[in-house]
Amino acid sequence: MTQIQPQPGILDIALYQGGASHVAGVANVVKLSSNENPFGPSPRAIEAFRAAGAALHRYPNTDHGPLRQTIGAHHGLDPDRIICGVGSDEVITFLCQCYAGPGDEVLYTEHGFSMYKISARAAGAEPVKVPERDRRVDVDAIIAGVTERTRLIFVTNPGNPTGTMLGAADLERLAASVPRDVIVVLDGAYAEFAPGFDGGVSVVDRHPNVVMTRTFSKLYGLGGLRIGWGYAARDIIDVLNRVRGPFNLSEPQMAAAIAALEDRDYTAFCLDETARLRSLLADGLAELGVPSDTSCTNFILARFASEDEANACDTVLQGRGILVRRVGGYGLPDCLRITVGDEDSCRRVIEGVRAFKAGEA
Ligand SMILES: *Cc1c(COP(=O)(O)O)cnc(C)c1O
Repeated sequence: MTQIQPQPGILDIALYQGGASHVAGVANVVKLSSNENPFGPSPRAIEAFRAAGAALHRYPNTDHGPLRQTIGAHHGLDPDRIICGVGSDEVITFLCQCYAGPGDEVLYTEHGFSMYKISARAAGAEPVKVPERDRRVDVDAIIAGVTERTRLIFVTNPGNPTGTMLGAADLERLAASVPRDVIVVLDGAYAEFAPGFDGGVSVVDRHPNVVMTRTFSKLYGLGGLRIGWGYAARDIIDVLNRVRGPFNLSEPQMAAAIAALEDRDYTAFCLDETARLRSLLADGLAELGVPSDTSCTNFILARFASEDEANACDTVLQGRGILVRRVGGYGLPDCLRITVGDEDSCRRVIEGVRAFKAGEA
């Protein structure tokens, strides 16, 4: 044991808790705890990943040009205003590293993603929690929470684990109300699942202090490969690129991401199925007395009468090989977050909750 102290804040970081992936002694486990795409990545992405494996002796492209071009073409964005990272997690880390430090505050909302807190502390800054209202981000509370120390504000939209979202008018009001020298980060990890939502592009284009982050981990089914990106004003992208490792993404990662974006038919299939099965799951649980807010994502937040009931139901589901996410750590102890899986998984969840409510399990 050394007596060597790390930088301030580092020892305050609680390790990230990932979704469980197995249950001792139970076969046929279905993992609905990490909002993964149950259909997997596009077969073309897998093919591109394999093909890129033939050149593993070569260092990858350092500026991600082809991937940024493809993302830009797909979303109608200037590729020079895009940065790619090892998951959007890495872009979040760059933002904290570059714009926050000791003495600074990083705002996140009550039920927000734990990575914001981790990245803020890693940068030596103080994470500050702002309340939400009925599981919805509260723009007024965020504005009221800004102090002269605030450097960054993280808002997940649509939210995780709530599944709810702020509309265009609220996003605009938030961006217009914060000081010009505070960066608002709109985390659009689930943006594709919200019909008609641009993830925050139009807000970024109107406000030079707003940044959007996106990921290939959810809709595109590439969580295992770690690819995300950010879109912002050029000067912010220039700053972030200075701390980015020159070879942070490998060619197989970039090739798979490009192929996934280009396979529009497969993406449309995943979106349609997710929407259909999300209704099936939410309606099925609501009929059993387990409501959820209308979700704009690939998961639902199932509400129980109490923390004890939520935990008891989780235990029953686990016994049936169904892994969902407890979200007490996100301030929602009476809820369970359930990823929309394939049809069989959704029916297994409904049957498991029915058995639990009937006291059969
Ligand atoms: C899943 C998720 C991400 C994506 O993380 P990656 O590092 O891109 O896999 C980002 N933000 C939120 C809120 C998420 O739920």
